Amino acid sequence: CGIVAYVGPKDAAPILLEGLQRLEYRGYDSAGVVISNKGLKMRKVKGRVADLAAAVPARFKGGLGIGHTRWATHGAPSDVNAHPHLSTDERIAVVHNGIIENADELRAKLEADGAVFLSETDTEVLSHLIARTVVEADSLEEAVRAALKRIVGTYGIAVIDAQRPGEVVVARNGSPIVLGIGEKEMFAASDVAALVRYTRQVVHLEDGELAVLKADGFHTFASDARETAKEPLTVDWDA
Ligand code: GLU
Repeated sequence: CGIVAYVGPKDAAPILLEGLQRLEYRGYDSAGVVISNKGLKMRKVKGRVADLAAAVPARFKGGLGIGHTRWATHGAPSDVNAHPHLSTDERIAVVHNGIIENADELRAKLEADGAVFLSETDTEVLSHLIARTVVEADSLEEAVRAALKRIVGTYGIAVIDAQRPGEVVVARNGSPIVLGIGEKEMFAASDVAALVRYTRQVVHLEDGELAVLKADGFHTFASDARETAKEPLTVDWDA
């Protein structure tokens, strides 16, 4: 339902929680965040963003993270089914909006290959798929692109890799993703409402596009991996 991502010099957790709060109007049943700082630190709960904020310890420091509010489609609302979802080795974390139609088939293959699923969601196939492709890929975006080629369905996603602590990869197909450009920091969200407190400079992804965010900027790519040139827009917003 709602996605927020941050990479930069500030602590990500309060920015993610504030962004998720701004997306509450869309409705949701659970919420979660993961911060990358010498490994992935995750909290997720069934309930309100305020419940999540109360569950996130002060020691969740670090300038890279992703967050989600969930509107369940596959698997009942619960703590485990809330996003983010991790790979079995806890290297990859994914948040996802949308529906993966071939999730059952992918899950059966991944389980046969040793992946241990913790949730009932369609989304969790993504963290396991990316964990497998990332081992041989030269970049996180290459691993995400390879995993997305196997997905049938709709997605807006944000992905982080514990072994690449300075970047977030986001992608969209049928579910919106907007990038927010700050001063030596980058944001992404499913809705500009989560970003306007921090920046008015935004870039909307098109279906099939993927973006790599680092503190010092971003790159966008078409589905064939060619880099696309995107002009930032200035949003007009009374926040
Ligand atoms: N299909 C996913 C799930 O049920 C994502 C739902 C959403 O868009 O929030 O977990």
